[in-house]
Amino acid sequence: MKVHILLGPPGSGKGTQAKQLVEKFALSHLSTGDILRDAVSKGTEIGLRAKAIMAAGKLVDDDTVNGLVFARLQDETGAVLFDGYPRTLQQAEALAAFLSAQKIEMGLVADIEVPEEFLEARVVGRRSCSNNACGAIYHLENKPPRAENVCDLCGSPLKHRADDTSEAFRSRMEAFNATFKPLQAYYRGMANYRRVDGRSKPEEVFEAVVELYQENA
Ligand code: AMP
Repeated sequence: MKVHILLGPPGSGKGTQAKQLVEKFALSHLSTGDILRDAVSKGTEIGLRAKAIMAAGKLVDDDTVNGLVFARLQDETGAVLFDGYPRTLQQAEALAAFLSAQKIEMGLVADIEVPEEFLEARVVGRRSCSNNACGAIYHLENKPPRAENVCDLCGSPLKHRADDTSEAFRSRMEAFNATFKPLQAYYRGMANYRRVDGRSKPEEVFEAVVELYQENA
Protein backbone atom coordinates (compact mmCIF):
# COMPACT_ATOMS: atom_id res chain seq x y z
CA MET A 1 0.00 0.00 0.00
CA LYS A 2 1.15 3.49 -0.86
CA VAL A 3 -0.23 7.02 -0.50
CA HIS A 4 0.18 9.88 -2.95
CA ILE A 5 -0.39 13.54 -2.17
CA LEU A 6 -1.64 16.52 -4.19
CA LEU A 7 -0.71 19.90 -2.73
CA GLY A 8 -1.90 23.30 -3.96
CA PRO A 9 -4.05 26.32 -3.13
CA PRO A 10 -7.86 26.36 -3.42
CA GLY A 11 -8.72 26.40 -7.13
CA SER A 12 -5.38 24.94 -8.22
CA GLY A 13 -7.14 21.95 -9.76
CA LYS A 14 -6.40 19.28 -7.14
CA GLY A 15 -9.93 17.88 -7.29
CA THR A 16 -10.08 17.87 -11.09
CA GLN A 17 -6.69 16.18 -11.40
CA ALA A 18 -7.47 13.71 -8.62
CA LYS A 19 -10.67 12.53 -10.34
CA GLN A 20 -8.80 11.71 -13.54
CA LEU A 21 -5.78 10.19 -11.80
CA VAL A 22 -7.82 7.78 -9.71
CA GLU A 23 -9.56 6.56 -12.86
CA LYS A 24 -6.40 6.15 -14.90
CA PHE A 25 -4.39 4.40 -12.20
CA ALA A 26 -7.19 2.72 -10.21
CA LEU A 27 -6.34 4.63 -7.03
CA SER A 28 -8.63 5.24 -4.10
CA HIS A 29 -9.54 8.95 -3.89
CA LEU A 30 -9.40 10.39 -0.40
CA SER A 31 -10.60 14.02 -0.43
CA THR A 32 -10.94 15.42 3.09
CA GLY A 33 -13.16 18.20 1.66
CA ASP A 34 -15.54 15.55 0.20
CA ILE A 35 -15.53 13.54 3.44
CA LEU A 36 -16.33 16.66 5.47
CA ARG A 37 -19.03 17.85 3.03
CA ASP A 38 -20.60 14.41 3.26
CA ALA A 39 -20.52 14.65 7.08
CA VAL A 40 -22.18 18.08 6.87
CA SER A 41 -24.92 16.88 4.54
CA LYS A 42 -25.60 13.83 6.73
CA GLY A 43 -25.64 16.01 9.86
CA THR A 44 -23.20 13.80 11.79
CA GLU A 45 -21.56 15.15 14.95
CA ILE A 46 -18.40 16.09 13.03
CA GLY A 47 -20.52 17.56 10.24
CA LEU A 48 -22.44 19.77 12.67
CA ARG A 49 -19.16 21.09 14.10
CA ALA A 50 -17.49 21.54 10.70
CA LYS A 51 -20.36 23.23 8.85
CA ALA A 52 -19.81 26.84 9.93
CA ILE A 53 -16.00 26.50 9.86
CA MET A 54 -16.12 25.29 6.26
CA ALA A 55 -18.65 27.87 5.12
CA ALA A 56 -16.37 30.57 6.54
CA GLY A 57 -13.41 29.13 4.60
CA LYS A 58 -11.48 28.24 7.76
CA LEU A 59 -9.69 24.97 8.48
CA VAL A 60 -11.28 22.18 10.49
CA ASP A 61 -9.03 21.24 13.44
CA ASP A 62 -6.13 18.88 12.82
CA ASP A 63 -7.21 16.13 15.23
CA THR A 64 -10.65 15.82 13.64
CA VAL A 65 -9.25 15.66 10.11
CA ASN A 66 -6.42 13.28 11.04
CA GLY A 67 -8.94 11.02 12.76
CA LEU A 68 -11.17 10.88 9.67
CA VAL A 69 -8.21 10.14 7.41
CA PHE A 70 -6.68 7.42 9.59
CA ALA A 71 -10.05 5.71 9.97
CA ARG A 72 -10.40 5.66 6.17
CA LEU A 73 -6.85 4.38 5.67
CA GLN A 74 -7.59 1.36 7.91
CA ASP A 75 -10.11 0.21 5.29
CA GLU A 76 -7.83 0.72 2.29
CA THR A 77 -5.65 -1.95 0.72
CA GLY A 78 -4.38 -0.45 -2.56
CA ALA A 79 -2.81 2.88 -3.45
CA VAL A 80 -4.54 6.02 -2.15
CA LEU A 81 -4.52 9.56 -3.55
CA PHE A 82 -5.01 12.37 -1.03
CA ASP A 83 -6.67 15.54 -2.24
CA GLY A 84 -6.77 18.45 0.22
CA TYR A 85 -4.78 16.60 2.89
CA PRO A 86 -2.39 17.26 4.57
CA ARG A 87 -3.02 21.00 4.80
CA THR A 88 -0.91 21.86 7.86
CA LEU A 89 2.51 20.83 9.12
CA GLN A 90 0.84 19.13 12.10
CA GLN A 91 -1.27 17.00 9.70
CA ALA A 92 1.84 16.12 7.64
CA GLU A 93 3.75 15.04 10.74
CA ALA A 94 0.83 13.05 12.13
CA LEU A 95 0.42 11.36 8.75
CA ALA A 96 4.13 10.48 8.58
CA ALA A 97 3.95 8.90 12.06
CA PHE A 98 0.82 6.95 11.10
CA LEU A 99 2.34 5.70 7.83
CA SER A 100 5.53 4.64 9.52
CA ALA A 101 3.65 2.79 12.29
CA GLN A 102 1.48 1.02 9.71
CA LYS A 103 4.42 0.42 7.34
CA ILE A 104 2.68 2.28 4.52
CA GLU A 105 4.89 3.81 1.86
CA MET A 106 4.77 7.47 0.76
CA GLY A 107 4.53 7.89 -3.01
CA LEU A 108 4.41 11.03 -5.16
CA VAL A 109 3.95 14.47 -3.58
CA ALA A 110 2.79 16.68 -6.49
CA ASP A 111 2.67 20.39 -5.66
CA ILE A 112 0.36 22.16 -8.17
CA GLU A 113 1.50 25.76 -8.39
CA VAL A 114 -0.91 28.46 -9.57
CA PRO A 115 -0.38 32.18 -8.88
CA GLU A 116 -2.98 33.74 -6.60
CA GLU A 117 -4.39 36.06 -9.28
CA PHE A 118 -5.75 33.05 -11.25
CA LEU A 119 -7.48 31.38 -8.35
CA GLU A 120 -10.50 33.46 -7.37
CA ALA A 121 -12.11 33.31 -10.83
CA ARG A 122 -11.55 29.54 -10.92
CA VAL A 123 -13.23 29.06 -7.55
CA VAL A 124 -16.16 31.44 -7.99
CA GLY A 125 -17.02 29.96 -11.43
CA ARG A 126 -16.73 26.37 -10.21
CA ARG A 127 -19.84 24.17 -10.20
CA SER A 128 -19.86 20.62 -8.86
CA CYS A 129 -22.19 17.68 -9.41
CA SER A 130 -24.59 17.40 -6.47
CA ASN A 131 -24.42 13.60 -6.60
CA ASN A 132 -21.52 12.83 -4.24
CA ALA A 133 -20.83 9.50 -5.89
CA CYS A 134 -20.13 11.37 -9.15
CA GLY A 135 -18.77 14.73 -7.94
CA ALA A 136 -17.75 15.90 -11.45
CA ILE A 137 -16.32 19.43 -11.48
CA TYR A 138 -17.23 22.12 -14.05
CA HIS A 139 -16.49 25.80 -14.59
CA LEU A 140 -19.02 28.25 -16.01
CA GLU A 141 -16.50 29.62 -18.53
CA ASN A 142 -13.60 27.16 -18.80
CA LYS A 143 -15.54 23.90 -18.68
CA PRO A 144 -19.31 24.49 -18.92
CA PRO A 145 -21.64 21.48 -18.81
CA ARG A 146 -23.42 20.64 -22.10
CA ALA A 147 -26.85 21.49 -20.61
CA GLU A 148 -27.06 24.39 -18.18
CA ASN A 149 -26.76 23.28 -14.56
CA VAL A 150 -26.89 19.54 -15.38
CA CYS A 151 -23.99 17.10 -14.95
CA ASP A 152 -22.79 15.67 -18.31
CA LEU A 153 -21.86 12.39 -16.64
CA CYS A 154 -24.81 11.48 -14.42
CA GLY A 155 -27.57 14.04 -15.19
CA SER A 156 -27.79 15.32 -11.59
CA PRO A 157 -28.19 19.06 -10.96
CA LEU A 158 -24.99 21.03 -10.39
CA LYS A 159 -24.38 22.95 -7.19
CA HIS A 160 -22.32 25.94 -6.19
CA ARG A 161 -20.32 25.06 -3.08
CA ALA A 162 -21.14 27.26 -0.07
CA ASP A 163 -17.43 28.15 0.21
CA ASP A 164 -16.94 28.95 -3.49
CA THR A 165 -17.91 32.61 -3.03
CA SER A 166 -15.47 35.55 -3.25
CA GLU A 167 -15.74 36.16 0.48
CA ALA A 168 -15.08 32.56 1.56
CA PHE A 169 -12.36 32.30 -1.07
CA ARG A 170 -10.42 35.16 0.54
CA SER A 171 -10.62 33.47 3.89
CA ARG A 172 -9.56 30.12 2.35
CA MET A 173 -6.54 31.86 0.78
CA GLU A 174 -5.70 33.35 4.17
CA ALA A 175 -5.84 29.89 5.75
CA PHE A 176 -3.74 28.54 2.89
CA ASN A 177 -1.11 31.27 3.17
CA ALA A 178 -0.92 30.85 6.94
CA THR A 179 -0.21 27.12 6.80
CA PHE A 180 1.27 26.26 3.41
CA LYS A 181 4.90 27.47 3.58
CA PRO A 182 5.96 25.18 6.46
CA LEU A 183 4.04 22.29 4.87
CA GLN A 184 5.75 22.84 1.53
CA ALA A 185 9.15 23.17 3.21
CA TYR A 186 8.51 19.84 4.97
CA TYR A 187 7.77 17.98 1.71
CA ARG A 188 10.27 19.84 -0.47
CA GLY A 189 13.14 17.97 1.16
CA MET A 190 11.67 14.58 0.21
CA ALA A 191 12.86 12.56 -2.76
CA ASN A 192 9.35 12.15 -4.24
CA TYR A 193 8.38 15.86 -4.08
CA ARG A 194 7.67 17.39 -7.53
CA ARG A 195 6.35 20.79 -8.57
CA VAL A 196 3.76 21.07 -11.34
CA ASP A 197 2.84 24.21 -13.29
CA GLY A 198 -0.92 24.37 -12.75
CA ARG A 199 -1.62 27.46 -14.88
CA SER A 200 -2.37 25.65 -18.14
CA LYS A 201 -5.50 23.76 -19.24
CA PRO A 202 -6.56 20.79 -17.06
CA GLU A 203 -5.64 18.31 -19.86
CA GLU A 204 -2.11 19.70 -20.05
CA VAL A 205 -1.65 19.69 -16.30
CA PHE A 206 -2.96 16.11 -16.29
CA GLU A 207 -0.33 15.00 -18.82
CA ALA A 208 2.41 16.45 -16.61
CA VAL A 209 1.01 14.83 -13.46
CA VAL A 210 0.62 11.45 -15.20
CA GLU A 211 4.27 11.52 -16.21
CA LEU A 212 5.32 12.27 -12.63
CA TYR A 213 3.03 9.59 -11.29
CA GLN A 214 4.45 6.99 -13.66
CA GLU A 215 7.97 7.84 -12.49
CA ASN A 216 6.97 7.52 -8.82
CA ALA A 217 4.27 4.81 -8.85
P1 AMP B 1 -11.59 21.41 -0.20
O1 AMP B 1 -12.73 20.66 -0.82
O2 AMP B 1 -10.32 20.62 -0.16
O3 AMP B 1 -11.41 22.78 -0.80
O4 AMP B 1 -11.98 21.65 1.33
C1 AMP B 1 -13.12 22.39 1.69
C2 AMP B 1 -13.06 22.81 3.15
O5 AMP B 1 -13.03 21.64 3.99
C3 AMP B 1 -11.82 23.59 3.54
O6 AMP B 1 -11.94 24.98 3.27
C4 AMP B 1 -11.75 23.31 5.05
O7 AMP B 1 -12.75 24.04 5.76
C5 AMP B 1 -12.16 21.84 5.10
N1 AMP B 1 -10.99 20.95 4.93
C6 AMP B 1 -10.75 20.09 3.91
N2 AMP B 1 -9.60 19.44 4.07
C7 AMP B 1 -9.07 19.89 5.23
C8 AMP B 1 -7.87 19.62 5.95
N3 AMP B 1 -6.96 18.74 5.49
N4 AMP B 1 -7.67 20.29 7.12
C9 AMP B 1 -8.57 21.18 7.61
N5 AMP B 1 -9.70 21.49 6.97
C10 AMP B 1 -9.97 20.85 5.79
